[in-house]
Amino acid sequence: MVKVNENFLKLPGSYLFSEVARRINAYTAVHPEAKIIKLSIGDVTRPLVPEVIKAMHAAVEEQGTIEGFHGYGPEQGYEFLREAIAQGDYAARGVDVQPGEIFVSDGAKSDCGNIGDIFGVDNVVAVCDPVYPVYVDTNAMAGRAGEYQEALGKWNRLIYMPCVEENGFSPEPPKEIPDIIYLCSPNNPTGAVISREKLKVWVDYANAHGSVILYDSAYEAFITSEDVPHTIFEIDGARTCAIEFRSFSKTAGFTGNRCAYTVVPMDLERGGVKLNTLWNRRQTTKFNGVPYVVQRGAAAIYTKEGRKQIRANIDYYRANAKVIREGLASAGLTCFGGVDAPYIWLKTPEGVGSWEFFDRILAEANVATTPGAGFGPSGEGYVRLTTFGDAEDTRTAVERVRNMFQ
Ligand code: PLP
Repeated sequence: MVKVNENFLKLPGSYLFSEVARRINAYTAVHPEAKIIKLSIGDVTRPLVPEVIKAMHAAVEEQGTIEGFHGYGPEQGYEFLREAIAQGDYAARGVDVQPGEIFVSDGAKSDCGNIGDIFGVDNVVAVCDPVYPVYVDTNAMAGRAGEYQEALGKWNRLIYMPCVEENGFSPEPPKEIPDIIYLCSPNNPTGAVISREKLKVWVDYANAHGSVILYDSAYEAFITSEDVPHTIFEIDGARTCAIEFRSFSKTAGFTGNRCAYTVVPMDLERGGVKLNTLWNRRQTTKFNGVPYVVQRGAAAIYTKEGRKQIRANIDYYRANAKVIREGLASAGLTCFGGVDAPYIWLKTPEGVGSWEFFDRILAEANVATTPGAGFGPSGEGYVRLTTFGDAEDTRTAVERVRNMFQ
């Protein structure tokens, strides 16, 4: 009789987004006239830029010719894209990342989850609290998280690093030394970033203890502050302790087209093995590459025109962020993030829980948010707002919330 992976049975239900949807549906069933504006969506709304479309069209035409047809591509990604990434995202910042260290993939979500394949099950894992749930659930599936403790909302083998107002929502190295450390900057859900100085502390800590930092920088394109590194490889010593995840999803609107990449430096070795070799083995065995047409589209964002066009979309979302931050502040509410990230972390009024606040805003302003408690115990007392919506809707939503509090 086959045995299932019992670790899956330990996972609590995927409660957060289904519960958000359930509450919105329950509300609209009773108030069908309500025009709910969703500041809860984590997906982009701006269409792909013309340069990307042009490159994709050309690639589609190529696929219809004998000479231009591409079948299976390299599992690690086409050289033209790896080269464009190495130049555009790294060399342009004075950072040395070689194309052979870049692995193009179908998403940072997949990579953040799949990377666990190259690490033993006995490793101790540290995650931020609140956290992007993929890090936690994939480790739980692999058996690295132990048992889920319902009452605490935590797994007993994971180290949780609270990211709270007192530490600027920036994780501190824990006392118990983890082997694997997930860092996410700019952060989902708090919108906080890790400064250059703090990241240096993390890199030194990881090198000193032989840990590996899994650095998720899916929202890098939203960084504007000077002291915030765009890549962990700007930090001295990172090449011997870090793996970086990047994505075209939010940078260039590729959520529906799927393209991302992971950098595994050649200098990163543990147990006498290069992790680049292990990841290459994993990818060539379990992954068959991103479609040629999609990779051509992704490469187009590194052209002068492509860059300008995606920047305009990012600026559109950044303008939404400003509307939300300033609107909420003028209503006397406290919020964080939204400067170097597309997420705003709104503090609930004293004594009001995340879900209670969610319900109130939904009922009184007809605005949907995401309760912070759903991202981990330290998210209690916050809701997450996203800036990926339509500008007019965002303004209306903020106006409604302001009216609630004035
Ligand atoms: N990493 C973080 C922190 C995210 O918030 C998301 C998407 O919400 C992802 C990764 C997933 O990116 P992708 O669309 O490339 O799978």
